[in-house]
Amino acid sequence: MASFDIDLVAGRSCGDCTVCCTAMAIDKPDIQKEAGVTCRHCRAGCSIYETRPPLCRDYHCGWRQLPILDDSWRPDRSGVFLEFEPVGEQTGMSLVLTGNPLKTVRQDWFIDFVAIGIKGDVPLLLGIPGPRGHQGASLLLNTPAMLQAARTSRARVKEQLEKELKLLQSYDFPPRRFVYSGHDVGATA
Ligand code: SF4
Ligand code: SF4
Repeated sequence: MASFDIDLVAGRSCGDCTVCCTAMAIDKPDIQKEAGVTCRHCRAGCSIYETRPPLCRDYHCGWRQLPILDDSWRPDRSGVFLEFEPVGEQTGMSLVLTGNPLKTVRQDWFIDFVAIGIKGDVPLLLGIPGPRGHQGASLLLNTPAMLQAARTSRARVKEQLEKELKLLQSYDFPPRRFVYSGHDVGATA
C-alpha cells in the first residue's frame, strides 16, 4: 500500500462500507490476509475497532480523500475501490473493480471520470482482483488510444475500457507470496 499525506473529506465516513477489509491483501507483522477474503473481525464493522492494527487505523481509501467523488462513489455502492498509487514521478489513481467489472466500465459516470482524468493527464490504473491466493492485475489507461477515445466520445471510451478489461481478465495471475505469518485474519477464528 502506498503512503501519502492524507487529507480526509470533512464529514465523510465509511458508514456501512467494509470493502477494504475484504478487497485488500494485507501482509504486515501484526495482520495478514489474502485479497478477496473478508477479515474475520469484520462483522457489521470492525469488531476490534479500539484495538485494530495500526495499518487499519491509518488506512483510508481514495473516496475518503477526494471531495470530487460524491456519495455514490463509496466503494460498496460503486464497485470501484480507488487508491492513490505512485506512477513514475506522479501520483496516480488505481481504480480496482470490486463489483461487476463489465457493468462498471459501461456506466456513464465511470466513463466520464476516466475521460476527464485521461484528458487531464492524471495517471489512471484499471485493476481487477485476482482469484483467491493470487495477485490482482492492473494496467495503465493513459495510452494514445485511450486519449484519442477520450477526445472523441463516451462510446469510444467505453469501447476502449471494455478492451482493456478483456486484457486484464486474460491475465495470468501470479500466486501471492506472503512475507509474514502468524496473524492470518482471513482464516476462520
Ligand atoms: S473502502 Fe474506503 S469507505 Fe470503505 S471501509 Fe475502507 S476506507 Fe472506508
Ligand atoms: S482488523 Fe482491520 S481488516 Fe479486520 S475488520 Fe478491523 S479494520 Fe477491517
